[in-house]
Amino acid sequence: MAESDGRVVTRFAPSPTGSLHIGGAHTALFNYLWARREQGSFMLRFEDTDRSRSDILYEKSILEDLKWLGIVPDVLSPRQSSRSERHKEVLNFLIERGAVYPCFCSSSEEFSKGGHSCRSMNPGERKSRISRKDPHCWRFEVPASPNYTYFDILRGKISVPGCAAEDFAVARGDGSATYLLACAADDHDSGVTHVIRGEEHMPNVPKQEMIYRAMGWSPPKWAHIPMILDRERRKLSKRLGAVSIDEYRESGWAPEAVVSYLATLSWAQAPTDRIAPLSELAGMFDLNSVARFAPVHDEARMRHFGRLFLSGLADETLLAYCSDGFSEFGSSGVAKSEKIAFLREVLPECATKRELAFQIRANLSLSGSETADAPEWIEDLKERFTLIPDIEWDSSNIKNIMKSFQKEKGLKGADFFHPLRIFLTGMSRGAPISLILSCIGRTDTLKRLDEYRNGRAAMPGGDNRGQ
Ligand SMILES: [Zn+2]
Repeated sequence: MAESDGRVVTRFAPSPTGSLHIGGAHTALFNYLWARREQGSFMLRFEDTDRSRSDILYEKSILEDLKWLGIVPDVLSPRQSSRSERHKEVLNFLIERGAVYPCFCSSSEEFSKGGHSCRSMNPGERKSRISRKDPHCWRFEVPASPNYTYFDILRGKISVPGCAAEDFAVARGDGSATYLLACAADDHDSGVTHVIRGEEHMPNVPKQEMIYRAMGWSPPKWAHIPMILDRERRKLSKRLGAVSIDEYRESGWAPEAVVSYLATLSWAQAPTDRIAPLSELAGMFDLNSVARFAPVHDEARMRHFGRLFLSGLADETLLAYCSDGFSEFGSSGVAKSEKIAFLREVLPECATKRELAFQIRANLSLSGSETADAPEWIEDLKERFTLIPDIEWDSSNIKNIMKSFQKEKGLKGADFFHPLRIFLTGMSRGAPISLILSCIGRTDTLKRLDEYRNGRAAMPGGDNRGQ
């Protein structure tokens, strides 16, 4: 089986029992970055031995989410469940070496209470009980020692009191491996050099290292990255808001923004002033500089990256990114430059594509419900707008015309712009009105003013479009 040839091999080994969450994506990212940084390879393995909860649909969605994030595995390892023969082989090897023994206790409680009676059972009795098919599992005979020490890249030397590891089960009576054995065998066989995983796996290290040593294998290097917490410093959970990657994807987040944000969790050197591509992150990444303190999931920081991503898009890309949003407005044709100017105006409010679409709709549709009394100058303004040819209908011309109109009529800014905005959008706040009008186009602007004249102000709720 593949011993490492010195090349770094990392792996992300989720159970396909749910969709990919921020914590899993974070672990996958660090595995990916370390493999890239070391010019090694990044492997994905589904640990699907919990057959009742594992689902191939989750495998698909996890893989899709990783691809969406750009964290594409170099190797897709065989599913854990497909390797049961190999796991049995490893078990038999451990049995032959006398590293494990059969335990006939009916439960782990009974085992804990009963001391080590199975451990000291004589070989003849073991044999006859096994041939009688007495239910049993296989336990690893943990050597008595005051402490067990191992090294974690993030945490340094870790010392575990010897009593922390009682003889642990490596297989059931039918020879099917427990997680501890399956995981150790799979990591070893696929040449994994660095096990970078969540800190909840730390108690497994002494047990897995014992399996490695009993097999004559060298254990991998360990790096246990801290769990991401919520603001109250609790474990992140779905019921406390969106934490699954597919939800972020569906709500219009850019993968680049999500990745840039994830990189900052526990890794202080990750850039916070720009969206760094994965290749740049990989060039800088150092597993040794990852903090061991639990990071807090910070929506505000994530939004910062969302805004950075959107504001960094080139004009044409930005427009293409949300062209759908404009499709129902500006029937008479609106210049690209006007749409882009509008987007740049509303962009500071937005972290996602969906929020941009919302801003377009909120500003350009007549969906607001505010109303105001019709001022006497509204007809005159409409006349004035009618005189602008379509081709000159842009925000700067509209602005100039409105300004000179306001001056002519001797209107204060608030007395003019406030009611005008309400007639045209139904809202008293929003993007600059000249940009809104240029983006809805001349025809629709005139139509809205007509609708107003025809009684919009008197309508409860305001919106009588389409009647
Ligand atoms: Zn027992």
